[in-house]
Formats: sequence, C-alpha cells, structure tokens
Amino acid sequence: MSSQDLSFTANVDRQFLRAVNLLDLPPGLAQQIRTCNATYTVRFPVRLRERIHVFTGYRSVHSDHITPVKGGIRYSLAVNQDEVEALAALMTYKSAVVDVPFGGSKGGLCINPNDYDDREIEQITRRFAYELIKRDLIHPSQNVPAPDMGTSAREMAWIADEYQRLHPTEMDALACVTGKPVYKSGIAGRVEATGRGIQFALREFFREPLDVKRASLSGSLEGKRVIVQGLGNVGFHAAQFLSLEDGAVITGIIERDGAIVSEAGLDVLAVKAWIEASGSIKGYPDATFLSDGASVLESDCDLLIPAALEGVIHHKNAASIKAKLIIEAANGPITAAADDILRQRGVVVIPDLYANAGGVTVSYFEWVKNLSHIRFGRMERRAQETTQTLMLSELERLSGLIGVDKWSPTDSFKANYVKGADELELVRSGLDDTMREALQAMREKWHEDERVEDLRLAAYMIAIQKIALTYQSKSLG
Ligand code: NAD
Repeated sequence: MSSQDLSFTANVDRQFLRAVNLLDLPPGLAQQIRTCNATYTVRFPVRLRERIHVFTGYRSVHSDHITPVKGGIRYSLAVNQDEVEALAALMTYKSAVVDVPFGGSKGGLCINPNDYDDREIEQITRRFAYELIKRDLIHPSQNVPAPDMGTSAREMAWIADEYQRLHPTEMDALACVTGKPVYKSGIAGRVEATGRGIQFALREFFREPLDVKRASLSGSLEGKRVIVQGLGNVGFHAAQFLSLEDGAVITGIIERDGAIVSEAGLDVLAVKAWIEASGSIKGYPDATFLSDGASVLESDCDLLIPAALEGVIHHKNAASIKAKLIIEAANGPITAAADDILRQRGVVVIPDLYANAGGVTVSYFEWVKNLSHIRFGRMERRAQETTQTLMLSELERLSGLIGVDKWSPTDSFKANYVKGADELELVRSGLDDTMREALQAMREKWHEDERVEDLRLAAYMIAIQKIALTYQSKSLG
C-alpha cells in the first residue's frame, strides 16, 4: 500500500508519529500510547419481518489510561474494524487536548439506518446495547458511548433504558451513556455541542490576527465565504451558528446526493427544512445544483468545513482545494498525504482532534451532571439573581445621591444583568472556555517552536505529553 492510500488507522498513526519524533518519551511508551488496547466484535441476531437478521458491531477501546473510556457509536454500512479503531484513537487524543478526563473508545454497527423503520431500529439498538452492556463495554465508570454518524439522542435514550433495565438498583445508571434527550437526564446544549464547538474554535482562531494572516485571510468571520460538507448534526449546527450569529456567508452545501451553491449565500435553516421535507438537497430553489457534490470541495471559498466523512480530501484533490482555512468538523476528513500537500501550499488546517471536541466536552458535562444527580445552575441561579438585583438597585440609589441625573439602565440591560445563568448558558460557557484554552495552548506551541509547522502537530504533541504523564504513576509491572 503506498503512503497515499493508507488505511484510516495508518493515517492517524502517521500524524501521531510526526509528533512523537519531536518528543522525548521513555522507551516503549509511544508504542503503548499508539496501540489500540482491544476491539470487541459482536455478531448478534434480531428477529425482524418474520426472519432472523444477523448484525455486526464493534466496540473498540483504544486507551484506558483514564477511565471511563468515551466515544460515539456510529451506524453506517461503511463501519469496519479499522475505522472504529482509528476513531477510538482520535477519541484518546481529543479528550487529552481539551482536558476531558476520559480514555478513548468508539463503537460502530454495520447497518444502513434508512433500511429500517423506527421500531426495528429500536429493537436492533437495544440488542446491540445488551451485547455491550453484558461485557461492561457500556458502563458509567468503564465505557460511556455517545451519538455519532447515523445515531442521535433517540438511540442514546434506548441504550440508557436498556442499561437501567439490566441494572435496576444502580444509582448512577444514567451516566452509562451521554447525548441523551434532556427528558432522560441529558444536558441542555448537547445536540448543538459539536457545531457550537466549531463556532467557538473559529472565533478563537480569528482573535489572533497573526494566525488569520497565516491563513492568507484578514478581519473577522463576518463576510467569510464558507462551504460545508454534510448538513447533519455537526455541519448543520456549525453552518447555522456561523451564518446567523457571526455573519459568515454559506456559499456551498455538499450532501450525499449532490451540492448546491449560491454566491449570495444559502439559508441554512431553509435548506435543512427542504432536505427533511423532500429527502434530497436536489431541487432547492435559489441555488445551483451540482450532481457531483465532491467537486464543490474544490470551489473557491475562504473556509471549508468537511462535516461528513473521513478521507474526503486526499492526495488527488488536495492540490485543487481553494479554501485558505479548513476546519475538520468530521473525524479524519483529510488524509495524511493530503495534509502534507495542504501544508506545503500554506492552507491552514484546524485539526479534528481539537475542532470537533465540543461533543465530548459537553458529554463530559452531562456525565458529571448524571453522577451529581442535579441540573447545572439549579442551586445558584436564583441566588445570583438576588445578588445582582441588590447590586443594581444600590447603584441606582447611589447615582441618585451623587449625580444630577439619576442613572437609569434600560429594561433590557436590567433583565440581562439580573438573570442568573441557566444550564444552557453554563454549558456554552464551559464549552467556550474549553475551546479557547485548548487553541491557545496549541497556538503557543505553533508559534514558539519552529519545528511545529501546523496546528495538528501542536495538538498531537500536547495530547501525547498529557497522556505520557498519566503513565508516570501507573502500575506497569
Ligand atoms: P450525521 O449522521 O448527523 O450527519 C452526517 C451528514 O453527512 C448527513 O447529513 C449525511 O447525509 C451527510 N453525508 C453522508 N455522506 C455524504 C457524502 N458522501 N457527501 C456529503 N455528505 C454526506 O453525523 P454527525 O454526527 O454530524 O457526524 C459527522 C462527522 O462529525 C463524523 O465524522 C463524526 O464522527 C464527527 N463527529 C460527530 C460528533 C457528534 O457529536 N455528532 C462529534 C464529534 C465528531
């Protein structure tokens, strides 16, 4: 196999080894960190439509240097052991980059969810969950899944319910999985989390003019022309927030059945509604349709957001990519060979192991919420409101004493100043803080060490150093 056609795990390993070459690790440690600890393959039967169907699923534990291990469950016909192991490795490094105390895991079920109705998907999900639960591959302190491609809060609710059914007396049962609906002890802001994290990462990137210049761009996100691939959970939220809140212009959306482009900008909510109603991106009015969706990756834009599949930017199209900045919302959308080409061409890449960490970060908040059995903000919110109200009325009273014109703030200022933070605001604040701090640490390495040519290398170095530290106190006898 040439270096241009590496498997997904080999691509991740290549990035890992680039970083290890610049680090001074004890002998053998790099090998231990890199190696996938275990992968469980299960084939299980489900009776559907009057016959038995056999399904194949995986749960891979890449590294349990910290437990529980964490990582989504993907439903796709393309799922295979190599893919699950690569995604599990990325989870290990990702959690380390954003300081989330989890090891790395991933799961997958080889299935096209569109081939089954809701009732059947529930049956298959519950049976898959049962197979993993009975081996502690779903467990609040051992292994905690979350949604990924092809799964959502709905599947996580079934998994949580299955776990509770098998462990009826376990108090922390609901911490066995994250990404649950809020009614089932999920957390506000989890559905949007990965897309929101993309927005926070980009905002932080644009706060440093030097980095913006390195990407041959200037100014802020306002007016930047953006192409998004994949209008699923991650791509939709990222595109929505960037266009509605930051003034970016979505000039292209690529989906599985083609792409639409419009220099005037696409209305992300309307496009999503169109796809949901018609089942296809084709036919959306006010835009040009192109049946070769992947070709739009090469269209002119400032920012490219691959948010669908791995390996979509490869050695054959990397030289034609016109975006100046790419943020990897998907896992592994740029192969190692393409990464080399982009780097040589001066394209700045904000790498997956940092960029899409919003999901695992908010999953961490949900897990903590489940273990503490209380919603964030429940104790403080009204106390904060009382203190702020007191402060405001005292300021008004004092201004009346010393000023000619008594200070009287507007009603909207008062309302915003006085109200205590609810769970959603706290989650967003925690996520924003996480994304800013992690990028600042990566940026520092990128700027200060001339051997560190790109943000991906910086992120891998930071992750590996943090994981290596945890081995100092581990029993390895
Ligand atoms: P999703 O299933 O919600 O959405 C995927 C989207 O990609 C769908 O709209 C699908 O139609 C589209 N798509 C599929 N094949 C395509 C193709 N060939 N070209 C263009 N579009 C195509 O999945 P998601 O949860 O948004 O995940 C997307 C990526 O983000 C994956 O790589 C996943 O691992 C990664 N990710 C997801 C999360 C999360 O919280 N969901 C967290 C971190 C990383």
